[in-house]
Amino acid sequence: MLKLFRNRAGYSGGTTHFLILLLFLVGCSESLSLDSESLGQGSADLSEYFISPEICKDDVGPDCTKLRLGDSQLTTLAPEQGKLYACRPGNPGAPGSDRDKITWIDNASGTWNMLAKPFLPAGSFSPGAGSSAVTESGSTRTISGNNLPVDGKIGDWPMTRYPALTAIDRNPGIPAANNFSFMLQLDPDEVTNPSCVDLGPIGMTLNGVVLYNAVDGRGNDAVAHEIVDIYGGHPAQSDYHYHFVPERLDKVPALSDGHSGLIGYIRDGFGLYGYNGAGGRELSNQDLDECHGHSHSPMGYHYHSTIEYPYTIGCYRGTPMASASAVSPRRRIHPRADAPLSGVLSSSDSESTRGVTYREANVRFIQGMAVHHAQALEMTELVRKYASTEAVRQIARRMEIAQRHEVGLMEAWLSNNGEPLRMPRVNGQMPIMAGMLTPEQMQRLSVARGVGFDKLFLEFMIEHHLGANEMVANLSSDSGVEKTSTVFQFAEEMDVDQAMEIQRMLAILEGIE
Ligand SMILES: [Zn+2]
Ligand SMILES: [Zn+2]
Repeated sequence: MLKLFRNRAGYSGGTTHFLILLLFLVGCSESLSLDSESLGQGSADLSEYFISPEICKDDVGPDCTKLRLGDSQLTTLAPEQGKLYACRPGNPGAPGSDRDKITWIDNASGTWNMLAKPFLPAGSFSPGAGSSAVTESGSTRTISGNNLPVDGKIGDWPMTRYPALTAIDRNPGIPAANNFSFMLQLDPDEVTNPSCVDLGPIGMTLNGVVLYNAVDGRGNDAVAHEIVDIYGGHPAQSDYHYHFVPERLDKVPALSDGHSGLIGYIRDGFGLYGYNGAGGRELSNQDLDECHGHSHSPMGYHYHSTIEYPYTIGCYRGTPMASASAVSPRRRIHPRADAPLSGVLSSSDSESTRGVTYREANVRFIQGMAVHHAQALEMTELVRKYASTEAVRQIARRMEIAQRHEVGLMEAWLSNNGEPLRMPRVNGQMPIMAGMLTPEQMQRLSVARGVGFDKLFLEFMIEHHLGANEMVANLSSDSGVEKTSTVFQFAEEMDVDQAMEIQRMLAILEGIE
């Protein structure tokens, strides 16, 4: 979808985005569809890669040796208990495990044996520290993280070091830090008609790793088919994710009777809890509704994990929000600060008089961002005239207010510091900053009408915001910039705000399409 945005936006500048949008359509494209004839045979002894989960050691809950295979449990028609209500059927041509080499699935009985399935062991692989943050502000909750496990538990990727496993599943992915953030309703409502679940992230764990739904790109049971590490995750390229809840995350009960604790949040804002319900009893699908949740005090509606398909959720009981992903190896997660923007870059601030290192980079950044914002205001001006979707008008109004305010702050800062308000022209032209529309694109937008205008505005403005985020990333990576400077803090807060606006715009765009 990013490609789509870029192509439509004609964004062909030499700059490489540090930010990419998280796509709902990514799915599990973690394996290459190469011919695996040349690799080892399926009859290899895999017992050294078996695991013995605690959850499989008693008679309560599903039998781990005869788990119901979910391959035929995907439906696109309506929510149904024990099934995944998916937005689209699987693509049989998508990459995945080699069926002929899978020994732990019994197709005749439609079951699979978790205790006879290989898992990638631990080893020397170390992708860096995981991070995760949950913040609440007003009516929203934001959960973000760098998608690496906070508890540091990750297998020995890439799997290509293990020929016996690669012979079955040729996933060449290597997990790396990728920032994800989900803006959620703090107090979500249950809706009458639950919605379908698409491929890609459905939520995020408190362990900092995103959750995907139960299926792989083919629409098959991902937990049964795909090889994950002994800690429960695997990468789609560099995006590490869980298709089920690793049992170690279900450690601290939420209630004194043993009811599991919170594992993370789903995109509709409802919490996902562990394996045990009231009385500490392990749950099965029969205990849960068609979305894989239930409602009881004191937590109200919530989802539960099970060791059987669909593992996490079957549908969205609430309204799923879009997700945005900011990917940059050098950037840290910056939870939203409560202080309003104006508290950070006050118009009376003068870096030089405050004795903070006053850098050329700051001036360039502020001058550039002022130009960037000016164009955003031109775009929102068009919304006043031509938008037909109320949600588009609303978000444009919000942007207009925020960006006007920021432009005022930036101009005051420049004048207080004795700097010109405008960037020097290059060959008589204003320079075009990352994500800015070319004159041709601006022209296209100004002649678009109706829903066509709304979509084009959203796509262009998402690009525009991503460009601003990239400018912030460049500022952050500039070693000359004081991380404590007001400009830097202003930039980081603006960055967080714009990342949230990107999520909102994605959600609106999804609604229009
Ligand atoms: Zn996967
Ligand atoms: Zn419960």
